[in-house]
Amino acid sequence: MAAGAPGPVENLVIVGSGPAGYTAAIYAARANLSPVVITGFKDGGIPGGQLMTTTHVENFPGFPDGILGPELMDRIKAQAVRWGTRLVEADADRIDLSQRPFRIEAEGRTIETQAVILATGASANRLGLPSEERFWNAGISACAICDGATPQFRDVELAVVGGGDSACEEAVYLTKYASRVHLIVRGDKLRASKAMADRVLANASIQVHWNRQISDCSGGDWLEAIELRNSVDGSSERLPVRGLFYAIGHTPNTRLVQGQLETDAKGYLITRPGHPETSREGVYAAGDVADAEWRQGITAAGSGCQAALAAERWLTEHDLAVTVSHDPVDPVEVGERVRTAVSDEANFNPEALWQKGSFALRKLYHDSNKPLLVVYTSPTCGPCHVLKPQLKRVLDELGGRALGVEIDIEAEQEIAQQAGVTGTPTVQLFLNKELKQQFKGVKQRSEFKAAIEALL
Ligand SMILES: Cc1cc2nc3c(=O)[nH]c(=O)nc-3n(C[C@H](O)[C@H](O)[C@H](O)COP(=O)(O)OP(=O)(O)OC[C@H]3O[C@@H](n4cnc5c(N)ncnc54)[C@H](O)[C@@H]3O)c2cc1C
Repeated sequence: MAAGAPGPVENLVIVGSGPAGYTAAIYAARANLSPVVITGFKDGGIPGGQLMTTTHVENFPGFPDGILGPELMDRIKAQAVRWGTRLVEADADRIDLSQRPFRIEAEGRTIETQAVILATGASANRLGLPSEERFWNAGISACAICDGATPQFRDVELAVVGGGDSACEEAVYLTKYASRVHLIVRGDKLRASKAMADRVLANASIQVHWNRQISDCSGGDWLEAIELRNSVDGSSERLPVRGLFYAIGHTPNTRLVQGQLETDAKGYLITRPGHPETSREGVYAAGDVADAEWRQGITAAGSGCQAALAAERWLTEHDLAVTVSHDPVDPVEVGERVRTAVSDEANFNPEALWQKGSFALRKLYHDSNKPLLVVYTSPTCGPCHVLKPQLKRVLDELGGRALGVEIDIEAEQEIAQQAGVTGTPTVQLFLNKELKQQFKGVKQRSEFKAAIEALL
């Protein structure tokens, strides 16, 4: 589909909404550049980036007791928005750096911009097993932190493949649920930090399988076993597991600018050493997309800051910036987020757009004649953080003609089991006690809206 005609030329478009993208946005917004962030949606991870897929972040300065990854990203985003960042909640589909102003297509429209910061990070790799597609979301997952709490993974044997920090973190995390965790490592040592590796090796619930590669997997409707090949003696074995979690590294998201900017052999953007400038003037790189070495939240945020300052300097030098002034100068404070209380007899409201817990679910399921969105989440699920505000917006737009209930599958395991939930987020759409549609993972707002409207 051809993209719509461009609006006014932007000063700066930032592609990506991880720590690099949002930090760049904070700096650019405070410099009155009114930046646009194209947050991403599915193409290279989720809005908020990789930290949305982790639990505790213990090394980001300013949080002495640690902070959950999704919460950290919610805060950085809120800071960027508070200062006037505008968000396009979609993937950038095309980036054309061959002409000025640069042109970016997203959400079916073309955005023209004087400067660009690429902060598209990196995406989780897959193994490409012959039966991978068949068992994807039916035993295979790329996010232990999102899916670990689902009933199918409780009290059974699970496997994690990988030998770095992510694999170790996921293996330790899954011991909360599994009867045993098998860590499948390609070589004869862990690449993780010493502290992480020690935690794994000291954990009696984790069995490390050295020098093993997974050649395929098998099962019925759900994963039952993986096939392991010993790379030292060539032997094969079948390991019965009900879950396989991938933690085998990331690939930089540079597909959209391949051939337009210099990249290294692995696809990372090449910048001027120690600086954010790419091989094209006015185009900057920040975070993991240009960093094969450090790959941390704080280094990504730091390079986002550098990229925004460099872009501002360049725009000013070339007299290209059209700045906006803030009125009032200090924007309203964000404040603490209000959490939805779990509904009970005392606070249940049959007309409330969004409620929480099995009490509300039972009441609305039995008594309401409106379409009902039931959203299954888990406390550490980053994609759930992304999805919930989108669903709330849809319900708002529908002005009370449909209602939503959130079920935390960790707190309400039985409900999740009865509903056959295999991962989070899962959304089920009911009307008059009948399941009309089920959605797994993060989907566009328009999909939910269309499904509900079809029932009205
Ligand atoms: C499991 C795990 C645990 C981690 N734990 C820690 C930790 O404890 N501490 C720490 O400091 N670091 C940690 N890291 C590393 C940290 O998450 C990354 O270094 C950091 O997120 C990189 O930030 P980024 O902004 O460069 O990219 P990312 O976080 O990867 O974000 C990239 C963004 O670009 C977007 N995007 C991609 N393609 C497009 C497109 N076509 N259009 C628009 N947007 C697009 C994505 O949606 C995403 O929003 C962890 C990483 C993982 C995977």
